[in-house]
Amino acid sequence: KFDQRVEIKSKDELSVLAFSINHMTQRLSELDKMRRNFVANVSHELRSPLTSIQGYIDALIQRKAKNRHDETKYLQIVQQETHRLSRLVNDLLEISRFDSQTALFVVDEFPLRSIVDRALTSLKIQLEGKHLTVKIDIPQTLPFCYGDEDRIEQVIYNLLDNAIRYSSHGGTIIIFATSLNEKIIVEITDFGQGIPPQDLPFIWDRFYRVDKARSRIKGGTGLGLAIVKEIVDKHGGQVMVESRLEEGSKFSFTLKQFKPETET
Ligand code: ADP
Repeated sequence: KFDQRVEIKSKDELSVLAFSINHMTQRLSELDKMRRNFVANVSHELRSPLTSIQGYIDALIQRKAKNRHDETKYLQIVQQETHRLSRLVNDLLEISRFDSQTALFVVDEFPLRSIVDRALTSLKIQLEGKHLTVKIDIPQTLPFCYGDEDRIEQVIYNLLDNAIRYSSHGGTIIIFATSLNEKIIVEITDFGQGIPPQDLPFIWDRFYRVDKARSRIKGGTGLGLAIVKEIVDKHGGQVMVESRLEEGSKFSFTLKQFKPETET
């Protein structure tokens, strides 16, 4: 029995239906455009390191390097570009897991300090390379966080990685956390190049960069903040940014605070 047809009772209902169909068509075409843009962006992002790898390998095979030193330089570029490709593929996999709703979240209680320390350990070489000072202002009494520990570590890692990449040599990065209204607020502040106000609303979009060439040189994939936002959204939190050009940026996000079951 196919009795689920839309019954039109009046002219008014017909116009409501026409309006809904138009709206749906418009939304579908927007989604299709986004999908096509995404595929074009991915192809472009994959092509540029591949072209560079191919070029330097060809040069090495044809013995175009003048000396040993140049040869090593070519190989180092190939190595860097391979790392960038691998980061890009990992970021894309993570994004596609979010899109297809197959990302598994393992939710538990954990202290914020431990994931901050782990993220800083993974970024030690970059921090030392730029002679940056990190100030950690996390109270010992901060309640535990509640969420997927590895994913929140990734949020902190991505924000710190940006703070490092967009800071100048010898700068300072501040990691601050507090608890407010049963939520935990984490802030990561840098005193680096900052973001122009007109770009601020778009920085969370996939592949959006203020300066494409500079971001690539600095090893960015253009997906770091999109992943941050996706993870924080999935945890029911919020992301925020305040930034001033040439002065620095403050990225913050909220997290659920762990509430021990009160015994009755
Ligand atoms: P990318 O891999 O290019 O860093 P992200 O998604 O992490 O991509 O960030 C998007 C863009 O936002 C960056 O290209 C950069 O222009 C800007 N941005 C992000 N974090 C900072 C920061 N701490 N300081 C200045 N600009 C930043």
